[in-house]
Amino acid sequence: MNGQKKQFPTTPTPASRLNLAHVVRRTTALGPGDVRSAVWFQGCPLACPGCISPEWQTFKPSMQPTPQELTDWFLQDPDVHALTLSGGEPTHQSEAAAEFLRLVRQKREISVICFSGYTYEHLLSSPPAPGVDALLAQVDVLVDGPFRRELADTTQGLRGSSNQNIIYLTNRIPAGSLEKVERKVEIHIHEDSAVMVGIPRPAVLSAFHRALAAPRMGSQRSTP
Ligand code: SF4
Repeated sequence: MNGQKKQFPTTPTPASRLNLAHVVRRTTALGPGDVRSAVWFQGCPLACPGCISPEWQTFKPSMQPTPQELTDWFLQDPDVHALTLSGGEPTHQSEAAAEFLRLVRQKREISVICFSGYTYEHLLSSPPAPGVDALLAQVDVLVDGPFRRELADTTQGLRGSSNQNIIYLTNRIPAGSLEKVERKVEIHIHEDSAVMVGIPRPAVLSAFHRALAAPRMGSQRSTP
């Protein structure tokens, strides 16, 4: 994907690497408080109708940094102390994701929000990949559950539909913070594509797709 993919290898790689759809160094659209980085994982089997990033459901090789390489990328910006993991489905890469967070926290205090299409109960009882417990141990807030179009939540708060739960696993992020976040999106323009970052209301997403369907605008992405 555009210029950002060139930051990391894209060839098929062993399980010791992550497989990422996209990364953004600075955004304020995916969490409360200060600027944060966001990492989107490539691949999700849940196929929710109305998923706003269907192109990231496919399990295919994409950007594939090692946890250390992704850590080095994140640490380049000294002002960023928060991370959001989304996708795709982060928990399918739990071992590498947990190692990434562990390496970052060796160098810097951070808070971590993770979106998952699985419920918390499902992750605990039937983890979809090795290392889910290690990943959850590094996550401060889990936004869980699949996106359900008929329950699309168009009010405030960082969740796409009202069936999703915002679960505070630690006290690093004060309880209730994500519910109070005003929904907004950012459009990140790249050389040959545009990426919508945030959780768009349905009308905003439609307008984005219509705008980018016009000639000469290149590819498009929207991200939770
Ligand atoms: S869980 Fe998220 S990424 Fe996966 S299909 Fe559903 S909305 Fe899309």
